Amino acid sequence: MKIILASNNANKLREVREILSPAGIDVISQSEAGADIEVEENGKTFAENAYLKAKAVYDLTGLPVIADDSGLEVDALDGAPGIFSARYAPEGQRKKRLLEELKDVPDEKRGANFTCCICYIDSSGKDHYFTGKVFGKIGYGNRGTNGFGYDPIFMYGERSFAEMSAEEKNEVSHRADALRQLKEYFVK
Ligand code: IMP
Repeated sequence: MKIILASNNANKLREVREILSPAGIDVISQSEAGADIEVEENGKTFAENAYLKAKAVYDLTGLPVIADDSGLEVDALDGAPGIFSARYAPEGQRKKRLLEELKDVPDEKRGANFTCCICYIDSSGKDHYFTGKVFGKIGYGNRGTNGFGYDPIFMYGERSFAEMSAEEKNEVSHRADALRQLKEYFVK
C-alpha cells in the first residue's frame, strides 16, 4: 500500500517511514507524488489544520494521504501558543517570548505538553484522526542543542528535549505517540 505524506520535511518523512514500513506501507512525499502545494493553515484546531493539509493533497491525487499538525500547549497560558506555535514570534524569538511570559510563574504551574494530530484520508476520502501527546514543564532557560523549535525549554523529567538524543526523544514524543496509533490502525 502506498500513502502520501503531505509534507516535504525530510526528517518527518524519515520518521514516518521508519514507523510505517514494517507494516508494509510505502510512504512518499507530496513532491514525489507531484502535489507540491502550500496550504494555508487557517483551522482552529490541530485536527482542522491536519485535515486541510491532507485534503488538499487528496483532492489533487485521489490517493491515501497523511498530514500532521503539532505545537506546544502551556497550561499557565491557557494552552497557548498551541496551533500558533510556529507563528508565536519571529524566528529566533519564540522561546524567549515564552520564557518572558512565564517569568513569574512558579514551578508547579509550569506544566506544558506537545501535541501532534495526524489526519489520515483513506482511498475512499474518509478522514481518520490520531492524537499524540507528551507532558513536561517549561524550564527557566535554554538547555541543550539537539532537536528543534521549543525543545531547549521543554523539560521532560530532569532533561530538556534538546538534551536528549533523537532516539530518546522519538521514544516518548507526541509525534511518535500519534504515529504508533496510526500504525496500530493499519496492522489491526
Ligand atoms: P508543524 O506541525 O510542522 O506545523 O510545527 C508546528 C510548530 O510547533 C513548530 O514550528 C515548532 O515550533 C513546534 N513544535 C512541534 N513539534 C515540536 C517538537 O517536537 N519540538 C519542538 N517544537 C515543536
